[in-house]
Amino acid sequence: MRRSALFLPTLKENPTEAQIISHRLLLRSGMIRQTSAGIYCWLPMGFKVLKKIEQIVREEQDKAGCQELLMPTIQSAELWKESGRYNDYGKEMLRFKDRHEREILYGPTNEELMTDIFRQAVKSYRDLPKLLYHIQWKFRDEVRPRFGLMRGREFLMKDSYSFDLDYDSAKKAYNKMFVAYLRTFARLGLKAIPMQAATGPIGGDLSHEFIILADTGESAVYCDQKLLDKNPLQDSVHYESDLQEIVDSWTSHYAATDEKHDPVRCPIPTSQLVSARGIEVGHIFYFGTKYSEAMKASITTQEGQNIYVHMGSYGIGVSRLVAAIIEASHDDTGIIWPESVAPYSLGLINAVQSDAHVTKITGQIYDQLRQQNVEVLYDDRDERAGTKFSDMDLIGVPWQIIVGTKGIKNGTVEVKNRKTGQREMISQESIYAKFNNIKVGLRC
Ligand code: ATP
Ligand code: MG
Repeated sequence: MRRSALFLPTLKENPTEAQIISHRLLLRSGMIRQTSAGIYCWLPMGFKVLKKIEQIVREEQDKAGCQELLMPTIQSAELWKESGRYNDYGKEMLRFKDRHEREILYGPTNEELMTDIFRQAVKSYRDLPKLLYHIQWKFRDEVRPRFGLMRGREFLMKDSYSFDLDYDSAKKAYNKMFVAYLRTFARLGLKAIPMQAATGPIGGDLSHEFIILADTGESAVYCDQKLLDKNPLQDSVHYESDLQEIVDSWTSHYAATDEKHDPVRCPIPTSQLVSARGIEVGHIFYFGTKYSEAMKASITTQEGQNIYVHMGSYGIGVSRLVAAIIEASHDDTGIIWPESVAPYSLGLINAVQSDAHVTKITGQIYDQLRQQNVEVLYDDRDERAGTKFSDMDLIGVPWQIIVGTKGIKNGTVEVKNRKTGQREMISQESIYAKFNNIKVGLRC
């Protein structure tokens, strides 16, 4: 894409309404615009990042054997009355009526609708287990929408639902999601730590929040230093094998959100305990027969008994992740996107726009890289080199190629790594080999 053609309304000044760095950088780099409290437009470059994150989430769900479907954003109030949550949910739920005075709502989550779809279709143990998910916009009328994408009112969520015959089988589904989450966050370049979370009235130990440590996080969290030193789960996983060992290797170390943390009963010494702030990027939850009982989702067992199906739900905050990645990866000059989600893999800078020869060579490099399917952003604007450099740093593209008069004389260009700041002069020809494999997704 040529920068001159790109719709990227960057801001020179820091927007005063933005309190945290991710919100400031998202607005300044022209990725999103607020339309009303907690509701945002996704401008082309922000939308690209969102879609890349969504795709990684999708691929890892698919690998874990979870099947994608799509439920609507608008739901009928009837189902929520069946589960009892129509009253319980309170003001966070956006309710309205259609022209026939029927009560409808903008879905804040989908347990009820998913249970309804399931109970209509599945009646026998033979059809179990099932794991289903969708990636859809949600609306929650948060009391205090703030911090940009972090706590929006309209936000994109991946939510999965598991249906099993009994606890043991449900636990296998839970483990699959646990491991899929570790894989997902590792691919997004994040260190997310699973922490025991409150399970509410159902109890049990099967609820974990996946937390990224950041000073701007909304919740206080506590964990064993060993978890921070642990390597993210990079390897591929056989989901049909026993995943308990992988799960245990994480859950055997202490980690709890402030709701669960009890300083008196904390099993590890203070010297080993990290106390920090965290951002919740995912939440997995086994809730047994809570919804299946209320909504009569029963199945027949092999012995001919009627039982309520065991369920779990598993969320990932896809739009929140855009902000969380920035909180975890930025410097004073702007965003540093991990390669897996970067809007472009490479920024090509023509440092001397007025020089016809440099412009010709830069154009050739651009054409060749595009032929190689490299996602390249070519800054061809008639701007000072300094403006182009700071813009490219702000946008956070992982690699920059800078073409200037002096280098071209020797047949070389400068390559800069955005993360390390390392620069090297390389010959024009070797660019193509260097960036031949940079296409997003191929490396994972
Ligand atoms: P929180 O405690 O942050 O309010 P939650 O526990 O209500 O979140 P869940 O119902 O577990 O959220 O939703 C699954 C995921 O959706 C969360 O882990 C989070 O990443 C994301 N999420 C929830 N609320 C918001 C929001 N208002 N804006 C953006 N993302 C959100
Ligand atoms: Mg939660």
